[in-house]
Amino acid sequence: MRSQDPIYFAPPSGRSLALWLKSRTVESPSGCWDWTGAQQGVGYGFVPAKMHKSRYAHRAMYEAVCSPIPSGYFVLHSCDNPRCINPAHLMVGTHKDNMRDRDAKGRTKLPPHTCGQKQPAAKMTDETVIAARRDVANGMKQKDAAAKYGIGITTMYYIVKRLRWRHV
Ligand SMILES: [Zn+2]
Repeated sequence: MRSQDPIYFAPPSGRSLALWLKSRTVESPSGCWDWTGAQQGVGYGFVPAKMHKSRYAHRAMYEAVCSPIPSGYFVLHSCDNPRCINPAHLMVGTHKDNMRDRDAKGRTKLPPHTCGQKQPAAKMTDETVIAARRDVANGMKQKDAAAKYGIGITTMYYIVKRLRWRHV
């Protein structure tokens, strides 16, 4: 596995699911991880109920590697390939985003996916992530930094260990 492989950075809790999902894909020249297992509807990968409540492989992968999907949100493909489950090509958005995205295709390229900031409920921004890492580097306890920025201790751990917001 290459070190820049998104699964490499997945939180330990999600890594085994991510590896299971990845093992059922083939990597295409475009960088997509094409699902080779069962498919559903328009071509989304379909997984057993015990793997993910939604039954969708791309949603399972997003949650394993990136973050929980807020209710009512969709996992969108920046690559327009419904079979793809490469977390680097996935992001969450609303149904409206999906439609707008479809309209905009061919005119504008989507920004690269970023685990963390794309999550609508994310409280942290690139700026506060950098500031929090600086605080911890300067000796602030992770627990105290989490309180300062109003996030959970686990999230702060992910930030400090660069398991989330790795792009900053
Ligand atoms: Zn893709």
